[in-house]
Amino acid sequence: MAPRLTVVISQGQSQNPAKMGMEEEIVAQLLGEPGVDVTVIPHLYDLDSEGTGVLCLQGVTGDMVVLGRLFPRAIRWILDRHGVFGHAGTTLLEAEDEEEDEDQQLDGVEAKAKQRVIDTRQLPDRRIYCIDLRARPAAEAYVEEVRRIVQECQTSVVELSDWIQGDPKPEHMQKYLSPGTALNESRDATNRSGIVAGGDPTRIEEQPSRRWYPVIDYSRCTNCMECIDFCLFGVYGVDNVETILVEQPDNCRKGCPACSRVCPENAIMFPQHRTPGIAGDAEAVGGLKIDLSRLFGKPDDGPLDAAVRERDEQLELAGRDAVGRSTGIPRRRTGTQQRAKDVLDDLMDEVDAMDL
Ligand code: SF4
Ligand code: SF4
Repeated sequence: MAPRLTVVISQGQSQNPAKMGMEEEIVAQLLGEPGVDVTVIPHLYDLDSEGTGVLCLQGVTGDMVVLGRLFPRAIRWILDRHGVFGHAGTTLLEAEDEEEDEDQQLDGVEAKAKQRVIDTRQLPDRRIYCIDLRARPAAEAYVEEVRRIVQECQTSVVELSDWIQGDPKPEHMQKYLSPGTALNESRDATNRSGIVAGGDPTRIEEQPSRRWYPVIDYSRCTNCMECIDFCLFGVYGVDNVETILVEQPDNCRKGCPACSRVCPENAIMFPQHRTPGIAGDAEAVGGLKIDLSRLFGKPDDGPLDAAVRERDEQLELAGRDAVGRSTGIPRRRTGTQQRAKDVLDDLMDEVDAMDL
């Protein structure tokens, strides 16, 4: 029994005819593809967590491809936020890889050494492939990639243990069926090659308004809680096992990316931000790494200064007082790092220099 692959097209926010045309071209070409179910949703980032778009995504239990005008990392963690979990599938349509620089390699080594939130989770046995619709200019490349993924998924699910005793048992097969499809219904619809022909796309007609909120990459997040301390708008919270989450996304101040600059793991994305590293570009993450230890005795505090300034701007726009660095800036915990010198320290230095 061949598995079905759900392909989700996240529509762009703009009414640009060329972009909309390409999305519809992909849909049209995929409709004839065997083994593929096509679903069209409004822009993934804008979906209401209680809306039909999210319900539809949550109902997909098999392998899934999601295409949208977002970085693949952003797509993956927006889905995660909506309770759509799975292992990240590898696609061939990611941006051309640049050679990793030394900082990025170091970042990778450090990343392995730390406990990440994702290490505490059990993910369902399925893959989610996230593809940026800005990666290639024409529909054909995406359709080709979907065909390749169909083959990959069909190959990987033929588990020897399922077949060794003859026909696979229903409990082995059910996980490869479309959600809500009974085994017999699926068998009836199967053609002689064992593949179910594609039908009309499912279209989610929800019309969400544009949103702005942080998205957490739990493969990087260490649950350090620096973001919850820094944000003064009540956006972050914790779940029942004390894991950080974006609890009140719509409290976030439109256009403000401040906490993404403060997160020591670069785990916070704002998918609509113009800076690729903040919007979820995996290639740019290494270049954004912030070492808050620079606060203490070193002059290069650029990202933190920017974050503090952006937060103050939003506080003032909301009619509140700016707080500068007085609130939510973590002190480094290691004994080797120094705190910033204040007036008293300078005075003591001068006294020392006098060698009394
Ligand atoms: S600051 Fe970053 S690493 Fe720390 S809890 Fe928040 S998202 Fe996770
Ligand atoms: S961007 Fe600003 S308002 Fe939004 S969550 Fe981060 S600190 Fe809070």
